[in-house]
Amino acid sequence: MYVLRSIPLMLVLFLVRHALANPWAEVSAPSNGLSRAIGETSAGCQSGAITLPSEGKGYVVMHLERHRYFGQPELIEAIQTLGERAAHGIGLLHVGDLALPRGGPMPSGHRSHQTGLDADIWFDLSPSLHARTDKLRSNVQAPSLLSSATKELDYRLWSDRHVQLLKAAARLPAVDRIFVNAQIKRELCDTVGRDRAWLRKIRPWYHHDDHFHLRLACPSDSPACVRQEAVPEGDGCDASLDWWLHQQPAKPAHPAAPTPVLPVACREVLEEE
Ligand SMILES: [Zn+2]
Repeated sequence: MYVLRSIPLMLVLFLVRHALANPWAEVSAPSNGLSRAIGETSAGCQSGAITLPSEGKGYVVMHLERHRYFGQPELIEAIQTLGERAAHGIGLLHVGDLALPRGGPMPSGHRSHQTGLDADIWFDLSPSLHARTDKLRSNVQAPSLLSSATKELDYRLWSDRHVQLLKAAARLPAVDRIFVNAQIKRELCDTVGRDRAWLRKIRPWYHHDDHFHLRLACPSDSPACVRQEAVPEGDGCDASLDWWLHQQPAKPAHPAAPTPVLPVACREVLEEE
């Protein structure tokens, strides 16, 4: 009886899943042609994406099962450059999501990351079990740098290596901005000395206590890439940071699935064989 009743339910679940399937997540390979970021980071796609190799000098790619390790050549280069820098005394980079093979909206986890110009990098820099096999890099969560009790920076975890890494990332010319938790931004504001121009690119944002988010500027050869509003002048250690520290509204735990309107050019990217 149970089996008979469960069959229609499974069929219904299958149909619902199919109806909700995100076509961008169904495509397994990048499109051919020139590498281009198209549209906005939260409403766009990418053509001619490059695959980030799952391991390289100073880095490993996490949760390969998500198939989100594709980006524009500038992004791949930025990550590999940071990996090389990390290999000299910083630690091992654990690289999280970049974009789907042709970008576009992801079925879960991010609103941005759609144009191949965004990447998440964990704050965990320890060469760990994760480095050993692909399987051990799946279904694992990045550890937070905040104390779960106080929601402030846990100084047993935070180190100068994080400062060095964020500084190296912010100084990459291709990097437009970097999102971190406001507690991390505050720590940098309080401790970085005279050489602090790079702090401008470090922006407070929701969460980002277990990873930072690297966002590149639109590459000059991607005319359909939509530029984000410029980062304000100054180091950002000001009232805007106070707002994040004291007044930011709580972000909904499960934001509604976004339904961005993508540029028409993205349809061609998606439909290319
Ligand atoms: Zn991100």
